[in-house]
Amino acid sequence: MSAQVSHSRQVWQPPAGGFWEGVWRDGDQRMSVHDPEDGAYVGTVMDATDAEVRRAVAYVAQGQLRLAWPLWERRAAIEATAVALAASADRFATIIATEGCKTITEARAEVSRAVETLRLTGQAAAALTGRTVPFDNTPRGLGWTGWYTREPVGVVATITPFNDPLNLVAHKLGPALLAGNAVVLKPAPATPLTALALVELFLDNGVPGEYLAAVPGVHAGQALVADPRVDVVSFTGGPRTADRIAQGGPARKLIMELGGNNALIACADADPAAVAAAVVDGAFGVAGQNCLSVQRVFVEADLFPEVLERVVRATAALVVGTKHDPATDVGPLVTEAEAQRVAAWIDEAVAAGATLHTGGARKGSFVTPAVLTDVPGDARIRVDEVFGPAVLLDPFSDLREAIASANAVDTGLQAGVFTHDVDRALAIADALTAGAVLINSSSDFRIDAMPFGGFKRSGIGREGIESVIDQLTEPKIVAINRG
Ligand code: NAD
Repeated sequence: MSAQVSHSRQVWQPPAGGFWEGVWRDGDQRMSVHDPEDGAYVGTVMDATDAEVRRAVAYVAQGQLRLAWPLWERRAAIEATAVALAASADRFATIIATEGCKTITEARAEVSRAVETLRLTGQAAAALTGRTVPFDNTPRGLGWTGWYTREPVGVVATITPFNDPLNLVAHKLGPALLAGNAVVLKPAPATPLTALALVELFLDNGVPGEYLAAVPGVHAGQALVADPRVDVVSFTGGPRTADRIAQGGPARKLIMELGGNNALIACADADPAAVAAAVVDGAFGVAGQNCLSVQRVFVEADLFPEVLERVVRATAALVVGTKHDPATDVGPLVTEAEAQRVAAWIDEAVAAGATLHTGGARKGSFVTPAVLTDVPGDARIRVDEVFGPAVLLDPFSDLREAIASANAVDTGLQAGVFTHDVDRALAIADALTAGAVLINSSSDFRIDAMPFGGFKRSGIGREGIESVIDQLTEPKIVAINRG
């Protein structure tokens, strides 16, 4: 981002820098938001201090105890927010495409998805059930009758990343509120306006201020995590931040959705055009800043030359440029520093013997989509999550070796497999260490109703609406001794 740029591209300003203690209010410190493609000024929000974060937590912790908020009202508020979001789709898409990295086309798709997330969340009210317990299954339980219900955990701290600035916030807030929890949101410093616009919609549609706070800030997450009144931390972001969060507060339930370094395995019977389209679409959406991005592609040797040729051709044809033009395919990285890092990882791989077939050029915060082959086993761009527009392709002749290579990273979020052979597809699915294996698709597919998360360093617990509701409630037994 070029800090010296002074022009302005303001599309929406919240009523104040944050929403806390039941009102829109500023804090002692402020921070400005900039368009990552050229540094244009987009808006100002609070940069919450530790004391302000503690006040925000204290208020909702008390408020949730004071104010009973029945399930039907929670469901109605979330359903009404979904309707209001659909009606404000253009405004939200513009905010996302201005402060974030998504092109206007990607931003519109994200708004539709967030509407769907909130609709599904409203429907999930039916999942808030308990069950009876068969006490008479043990001699000591004879004479007892009992059941359990699901009760809210209390205060949920939600901390979100920049790359899906609306849907990830909807996915954090909707199910937590539906389950009856109070929520304090700390959005990504790069994209707080989208989050605040959604918070405003929740409040306008019936969510009480006693149950919700939003405190943007650069360091506000640390104070939030340290607060002992927080019952659960629900975090989406990078694994290194996750380590700091795990060490930053008392022992408690953590839900963590972290990174991926996702593989795609294509067998020789697959359609090369379909494989190439899935690679290009899966690797370069949001300029590769997507936890589900395709990063490593393993193609059976016979199919490899054609897939490579198609991937390179389609990648070179992608339009890189301003997010605000509907014709653009690939927008900027979140900062110029991130673009420098991605370009450096590509350069390092090439210096170590990799072949760069297209892309890899940096200008400001933009990097042109890169396709590499012959990348050494220890190159950072193979071993770590690149979170940028680069994809690596490898030919394979032994499927077991390809599966072992696909698994040879410290994350395991999602994977794609292309083959028409059902037995082979299922055998590969069995062997891959990933939270989801998608057959005849890239790794980049998710609906918000599915349990979502990964193995190894990809996270703790699962998102997906019903999974979150399960984790953000505690079973409470009530049992009667009938003598
Ligand atoms: P990040 O980890 O840098 O930041 C995420 C959030 O954590 C931000 O709000 C940030 O301000 C906050 N934060 C930073 N330090 C903190 C601390 N010490 N205590 C509390 N909060 C702190 O991640 P990012 O750069 O915004 O997003 C990119 C990462 O997110 C990638 O690794 C990507 O894979 C991951 N991600 C995962 C999913 C998923 O669902 N699995 C989805 C999107 C992004």
